[in-house]
Amino acid sequence: MIIDTHCHLVSRKYEDLAQVRADSVALGVTHCISQGTSADDWEPQLQIARSMPDFVSSCLAVHPSEVTEVSDVQLAYMEELCHQYPQAAIGETGLDYFWPAPEGWSEDDYRARQRVFLERHFQLAQSLGLNISLHTRDKKGLASFEDAFAIARNFPKVRPVFHCFIGNREQAERIFSELDGLISFTGLLTFNKTEDIQAVAAWCPSDRFMVETDSPYLSPTPFRGITNIPGRTKYVVDKIAELRHVTPEEIAACTTENAKRFFRLSL
Ligand SMILES: [Zn+2]
Repeated sequence: MIIDTHCHLVSRKYEDLAQVRADSVALGVTHCISQGTSADDWEPQLQIARSMPDFVSSCLAVHPSEVTEVSDVQLAYMEELCHQYPQAAIGETGLDYFWPAPEGWSEDDYRARQRVFLERHFQLAQSLGLNISLHTRDKKGLASFEDAFAIARNFPKVRPVFHCFIGNREQAERIFSELDGLISFTGLLTFNKTEDIQAVAAWCPSDRFMVETDSPYLSPTPFRGITNIPGRTKYVVDKIAELRHVTPEEIAACTTENAKRFFRLSL
């Protein structure tokens, strides 16, 4: 059994979720954590999780690139939904300093609003006893990582997972020791020129990482460019097993244990 800990099932790219589920289960991926990103996907997301609870657990949040599209009233509504319906975690939230600010926004104001939302998401996670799925991305340097790290530090009871981890070993060690956090790996590991991430995956303590697809994005080799599905977490598992010289079953087992604990799943 493999759990895809980060995907987006509310996507126009998916016409037939029953098929996505059948194809994923056929690859050994029997559960996934679908992440919310914007006001448009919170309710469809809850609906999907309700309609296939054995396959999908839901998280809600505002993705950093959506913070200028979501009003304060909508943010409060999302918080209410999380109080009303059980969530696996709060996600996907974080800081994205990679893309430029949208029209009408200064870079400083855009980033400041992202930090306000991230802080609110941590407060929400803390009040609900949940963990958090984090996205950080910079064009160069580590500003988004450091800023998210500084906010996370103020919420010692909330464990963060730095999803789609592309950092180095030193960053990973700080996430583990200072935040009691985790990292998760995507199909990026299967791409050429990702030796640095592969080195982290080869070294990472087995209780500190999970696996994910970030589908419908980031299809692993040899499916690059094709709409990704949770089932392809299998290729991430296979690659990590190869890097660590263990069997895929061992990687499936430890990452499933980590995911069950992190997202409080009773599967
Ligand atoms: Zn994502």
